[in-house]
Amino acid sequence: MGIIAMAAKPRAPTAADAEKKARALRKARSELYAARQHLGLATQEDLDLRIPFDVYFQDPCVTASRPEYNFDEEFTVPWEPGLADGPTSARFAVVDYDGGTEVLNSPARWDRDLGKFVDSQGKVLDRANLGSPQFRQMNVWATLQNALDFFENGFGLGRRIEWGFEGNRLIVVPHAGYGENAYYDRDSKSLQFYYFDPDADTTRRVHTCLSADIINHEFGHAVLDGIRPHYHESVFVETAAFHEFLGDLSAILIAFRNNAFRAQVARATGGDLDRENPLSGLAEEFGKNVGDQPYLRSALNELKYAAVRNDQRHHYRSQVLTGAMFDIIRRLTAYYVTERKDSVQEAFWNTIRRMQCMAVQPLDLLPPVDVTFEDYALAVLRAEQIVNPADPDGYRGMMIDVFVDRGILSKERGDVLKKPATVFQRLDVDVFHDPLSIAASRANAYRFLDDNRRKLFIPFAADVVVTDLSLAQKLTIAGRRQPRQVLLQYIWREDVLLEGERFGRFAGETTSMLCGGTLALDVDGNRLAWARKPGAMPLIEGPRADEEAAAGIARRAAFLDALAARIGAGRVGDGVPGGAAGLLEKAIAPVTSRTVDGTVRFELSPHIGIRSDEDEEMGERPWSISS
Ligand SMILES: [Zn+2]
Repeated sequence: MGIIAMAAKPRAPTAADAEKKARALRKARSELYAARQHLGLATQEDLDLRIPFDVYFQDPCVTASRPEYNFDEEFTVPWEPGLADGPTSARFAVVDYDGGTEVLNSPARWDRDLGKFVDSQGKVLDRANLGSPQFRQMNVWATLQNALDFFENGFGLGRRIEWGFEGNRLIVVPHAGYGENAYYDRDSKSLQFYYFDPDADTTRRVHTCLSADIINHEFGHAVLDGIRPHYHESVFVETAAFHEFLGDLSAILIAFRNNAFRAQVARATGGDLDRENPLSGLAEEFGKNVGDQPYLRSALNELKYAAVRNDQRHHYRSQVLTGAMFDIIRRLTAYYVTERKDSVQEAFWNTIRRMQCMAVQPLDLLPPVDVTFEDYALAVLRAEQIVNPADPDGYRGMMIDVFVDRGILSKERGDVLKKPATVFQRLDVDVFHDPLSIAASRANAYRFLDDNRRKLFIPFAADVVVTDLSLAQKLTIAGRRQPRQVLLQYIWREDVLLEGERFGRFAGETTSMLCGGTLALDVDGNRLAWARKPGAMPLIEGPRADEEAAAGIARRAAFLDALAARIGAGRVGDGVPGGAAGLLEKAIAPVTSRTVDGTVRFELSPHIGIRSDEDEEMGERPWSISS
């Protein structure tokens, strides 16, 4: 027996050793977290940088009627260092004050050692423990963490996003009270999920916070309000409809990204998405119980733009664009199955991978104000052209056909877009600024704009403001890095006098029309996109200034017409009564007015719900104008 044998004999680990080891593991995890952008998804899961949760991936109604649509074994959300009770994370804080019972439910607790959320008794919140409010808190939070990642990761926007209000934590209220709706509400910085009983007794209570479709729809509103906050101040029905579109699209794409769900849809449809299916039907449980139909809205529709262009109902109107994007999903899947001989499951996987890039990345190219369906179609086509200029599969042509068929793009426009053209052009300005120097600060970006008012068609008299500036690192569908993008949004206001009876009680008042643009450059100075909303103030003389000025004058006329139509339809209310969180949409007109610095501003209701009464009752109970 010598020294060697003695050294080999293990010492029993003490509690201090265990604590030391746990500390080292936590430190290692934080270091890995800092480097996570260099790790693949599977590696992140192996290293516990993504943690599994049991969440409903459609809604409990789908789960009950078709048991095969169950929890997803592979559902994970990104781990982050600051997880805490609530759940609370960097961007979300669940606050479970039940507005119906006026009770504050105790929060789900984060058990750091287990790496899971537990209820008040310390029992893990998973599919074996579904009944408690804490499960619902965890369900809505985990669904949101996953949805945020969907938008922020490199296949999406490739950058962090801000909210449309001051603050970094979106408050999530899973039991906001009794009612048949769910809201994103900018004023209270919250998502609010209501619950209701479809029967007289309470045995079948429907919790909107358990429906992935509803959660992802409302979150779509929060994302859009974060990246384009001035859409809120629009008198155009189409801009409100775009908000609804993005909500519905989020629900569809996030559901489709879910592995288990996709496998089930494949088995149920055999790859034929032209039939009604769980993917195209939005919010099934909600639709069945509220609307006596199998879903709330369907992406499988034949609506054309001409049929909705003068319709004041924004939920209804949104279906044209949702339908168009679903047409693209259907055509992609069919192409992969018939041309590439993919299995149905492979075809679905290839479809959703491509759709995330195709549908989410263009959001960064949209104008800062008054977005239209056409703006989005053009952004989608441009984003595709940037990453796939040769387009051997003909994706752009297919998408142009879809948009033209729906009437979102004119036939003439479609023909022009199909012609070969130079893909990358340098930005034509008088005074060059390095893109990374523009990206360094809003003050820098402003000097770039001011130095180039003439070429950028910014009126000399306009007090132009940089409203957003970011640097994005997007990926191609193959996971390769695109050149970094500098994304600059700027706006200015133009006073517009409301003359004539068609403006009702607002006649004689002054309002402001928002103008501006979004400029997307890559770091090499290529102009990726430049979406503009011109105004009617005089421009500095220069090439194409006349054309831009004419577009600005036409835009002001369209603005006045849209506002007059809103007022004429009785859709403009006085403001937000009470202003308390949890007010039902019934209390608020679709457009509100308030006076700022002597001019009237028209804004969308701060509550944006999953449905609105107007969809069924329009005409019977219009919003009345108080005199
Ligand atoms: Zn909505």
